[in-house]
Amino acid sequence: MTTSLTLNNGVEMPAVGFGVFQTPPEETVDAVRAALRTGYRHIDTAAAYGNEREVGRAIRDSGLDRSEVFIETKIWITDFGYEETLHAFEKSAGKLGVDRIDLLILHQALPERFDLTLGAYRALEKLLADGRVRAIGVSNFMREHLDRLLAETSVVPAVNQIEVHPYFQQPDVLAADAEHGIVSQAWSPIGGITFYRDSGHTSTLEDPTIARSAQAHGRTPAQVMLRWGLQRGRSVIPKSTRAERIDENFAVFDFELTDEELIAIDALDTGVRGGPDPEEVTLADFGWEIAEA
Ligand code: NDP
Repeated sequence: MTTSLTLNNGVEMPAVGFGVFQTPPEETVDAVRAALRTGYRHIDTAAAYGNEREVGRAIRDSGLDRSEVFIETKIWITDFGYEETLHAFEKSAGKLGVDRIDLLILHQALPERFDLTLGAYRALEKLLADGRVRAIGVSNFMREHLDRLLAETSVVPAVNQIEVHPYFQQPDVLAADAEHGIVSQAWSPIGGITFYRDSGHTSTLEDPTIARSAQAHGRTPAQVMLRWGLQRGRSVIPKSTRAERIDENFAVFDFELTDEELIAIDALDTGVRGGPDPEEVTLADFGWEIAEA
């Protein structure tokens, strides 16, 4: 199995990315440095995470050529709108210290102000046409948001980053992504949201079905969940600030789950979302400002 996915515009994206949501800025340089040492070549950050500057610093310090690391970041909702999003690119690129971003995505659908979302997406299309970004996409878009976007814009998103782990799989959104040639990228791929927040169900790390596969392959539950995501064709972006887990989460290319195991994990879906409902992400409740570079 390959370690990268080909996006719908031909760009290659390493399938496993390194997430930095909730990684404090003062821990981000060390975490990203450790990830790059381990072999990760894809980092997933966001303007709203407040650590783009540290992500950029770690990449520069690594000694790797810029072209060897795939940088993904996200535009926050307070920067939606055409001109605002063009400027938000400058903020993110400035903090990251790069001229070009590999994948730039809209963090939320913002259904209450979809006019702003459309303006933001048209700015992404412009940045793509100008070569400032190599690919564009979205996050937390449900089928109806994709339909609205596709009806009004011309570039099909390369990626839709959504909550996907064994307890919340969103089959309808995965199907919508597949129908349009959009790569589904799983956030909380080891179910982080099921244990760092009260999500209404127990931790995926304690699940007996996952534990059975882990035991059968001599792996950990986290590795089994990541492998399940990869074998189902998704990109996965696990987060950790601990060196041993950063290593563990990348050691997923040398074993294979059986079809029966994949089907058993598919069957664990509870339909209960851990993160915020995309319909409820509004400017009133989530309208924090993103600082200038
Ligand atoms: P993950 O599924 O990656 O889980 C992260 C949690 O699991 C942390 O508490 C981490 O703690 C712990 N952990 C990491 N590795 C292991 C392991 N091997 N065994 C046991 N525990 C482990 O959840 P996230 O929600 O962080 O999602 C990953 C990434 O997805 C984010 O960092 C971000 O980039 C993205 N994301 C995007 C969202 C969006 O709206 N687009 C929303 C949420 C996330 P520790 O650090 O102490 O190891």
